[in-house]
Amino acid sequence: MSEPMRLRLDAIELGYGAAPVVSDLSLDIHPGEILVLTGPSGCGKSTVLRALAGLLAPRAGRALADTAEITGPSRDRAMVFQDNALLPWRTVRSNIELALKLRGHPRAGRRERAVRWIEEVGLTGFGDYLPKSLSGGMRQRVQLARGLAGAPRAVLMDEPFGALDAPTRATMQRLLVDTLRAHPATVVFVTHDVDEALLLGDRVAVLGRAGRPLRALLEVPRARETGVDRTALRAEIVAALHDTDELAGV
Ligand code: ADP
Repeated sequence: MSEPMRLRLDAIELGYGAAPVVSDLSLDIHPGEILVLTGPSGCGKSTVLRALAGLLAPRAGRALADTAEITGPSRDRAMVFQDNALLPWRTVRSNIELALKLRGHPRAGRRERAVRWIEEVGLTGFGDYLPKSLSGGMRQRVQLARGLAGAPRAVLMDEPFGALDAPTRATMQRLLVDTLRAHPATVVFVTHDVDEALLLGDRVAVLGRAGRPLRALLEVPRARETGVDRTALRAEIVAALHDTDELAGV
């Protein structure tokens, strides 16, 4: 099995136009952890994810995968978006088979493996369906399978459950945690939902604006076990979020 990847941002500056969106951000993402990136809308969460994916080159500083500088996309780093990166003309199974192919999985055994993934994400019987005939929650299950199939060493997730209703979202969060237990990978998960951050994150990074790239970096002890009181942590994250808003308004 492939080892989860260490990801690192080293004094990174990112942007599209003249003004940087993110500047001087440093972050060490540990192998096998779920690091949640949160922060107010527009602070650069997706932009940071794009840099980790190798889709956006830093203007200063470095993004590293283990010890190698990230210069483009890699099969080791999978991306899972909100909706909907599935190919509409391919069936559920064929979408997953394609992901396996792109990650270098040999043709022999691809189909069987895709079928196993379909079972793993609770879609048994839907392998021959096209994405358009599935609900939003079911499509996200396919995306999850597609993201994790082929054992990527890191998975970059951009608000993957943001469009789902609350019960479906809760089911998907549990499914993600369970699936990662069986298929360990380093996960960077973007959300603006504080409760989702606390539920999923081993650590939560609150990004900010106005020259303060990292407002807070908090450990979430045994975040995924029930019965742990996270009230104080929640308050800390909310305070850091509000801080960023105030700063942005200055
Ligand atoms: P977040 O994910 O925190 O909501 P984004 O990373 O999407 O923030 O965006 C950060 C800033 O960069 C925003 O001001 C947004 O308008 C700008 N931005 C994002 N993508 C692009 C793009 N492709 N071209 C130009 N500006 C962009």
